[in-house]
Amino acid sequence: MALIIQKFGGTSVGSVERINAVADKVIRTRKQGHDVVVVVSAMSGETDRLLALANDIAHRPDRRELDVLLATGEQVTIALLAIALREKGQDAVSFTGGQVRILTDSAHTKARIMDIDAARVRKALSKGRVVVVAGFQGIDADGNITTLGRGGSDTTAVAMAAALKADECDVYTDVDGVYTADPRIVPEANRLKRISYEEMLEMASLGSKVLQIRSVEFAGKYHVPLRVLSSFQDGPGTLITDEDKEMEQALISGIAHAKDEAKLTIMGVPDRPGIAYTILGPIADANIEVDMIVQNVGADNSTDLTFTVHRNDYDRAMEILQKTCREIGARGVTGDKRIVKISIVGVGMRSHAGIASRMFKALADEGINIQMISTSEIKVSVVVDEKYLELGVRALHSAFGLEKGANGAG
Ligand code: ASP
Ligand code: MG
Repeated sequence: MALIIQKFGGTSVGSVERINAVADKVIRTRKQGHDVVVVVSAMSGETDRLLALANDIAHRPDRRELDVLLATGEQVTIALLAIALREKGQDAVSFTGGQVRILTDSAHTKARIMDIDAARVRKALSKGRVVVVAGFQGIDADGNITTLGRGGSDTTAVAMAAALKADECDVYTDVDGVYTADPRIVPEANRLKRISYEEMLEMASLGSKVLQIRSVEFAGKYHVPLRVLSSFQDGPGTLITDEDKEMEQALISGIAHAKDEAKLTIMGVPDRPGIAYTILGPIADANIEVDMIVQNVGADNSTDLTFTVHRNDYDRAMEILQKTCREIGARGVTGDKRIVKISIVGVGMRSHAGIASRMFKALADEGINIQMISTSEIKVSVVVDEKYLELGVRALHSAFGLEKGANGAG
């Protein structure tokens, strides 16, 4: 007998029919002899609907009150699911985040979990009940309701799994696993059987939106075996787990892409100590996240600096950069919103040489110009013109033989 955490996202509980289907699935797991803790999201679209209501009333709604509002979405689904389970003859009890003492810091709308007191859940499980916990929410030290940021129910599920030392945390979504590339771009993409926490973290931060990034960090830290599965069809999904030898044998595990990037360049900057800080400091002060940074040194003691930001931040970043340009007497500023980032990810890079050059060759063979490059131990990213997104992703997918089911995919 195992203890299994099952998490169901918004589309999986989006209607009464779907909630009944979830109840059936939970009962099947119970019948196999396992204890089950279920974590649910709000019904699909509900969190957006609540946010829109608040935004209709206030330009910047108070964050504490936003959390009181947003937490109601998940409270609806826990109650409905517990009612469905009981209706089908399965004893069940629902708890809000505060009731199971998911203790967070006080950073409203993006709180972090500090501690979980799992005693109440354990007690209910010992009575043979299915425990249904509201995702996405917690309570701070002063008893205020908090929420964990969009997609935060994933993190609730992983945190519950860690606190209860569960055998597995199964996240049911509308996709049946993690793929070697976005199947909408690469029809031959394969579902990965397994992927390491670190690779999944890179994939998630590079644009694959299957799991909340923080949930993957959490799972890695506490070694929670995390599985992504479809709630609509049966199948083994993708297991996210500790790295092992087999994973390292593959050259790369997958191709990720991010469409919503933009780049800005400041030209003819006097090349002297502190200049990067002078340029990027005001950008950071405006809370704009900078991703890649490239600095080029010219012959005349001046330099160009290019960096990328999220496309939504482009206009603000441009304004700030123009101001800096005037202040330091740089030659000028340019920018481009029509860029994308394509990345190859894999722990195999640690033990195989020549992966980056194979990537560059594949892109060159297609006549794709690389505008920027950045690397980490298990990833190489390039910025290219957005018109090359599909072509680039497909070229890389085939250059690394991912359609053949590398890395245990398929
Ligand atoms: N309901 C929240 C959201 O839509 C949390 C979640 O679904 O994980 O972001
Ligand atoms: Mg989600």
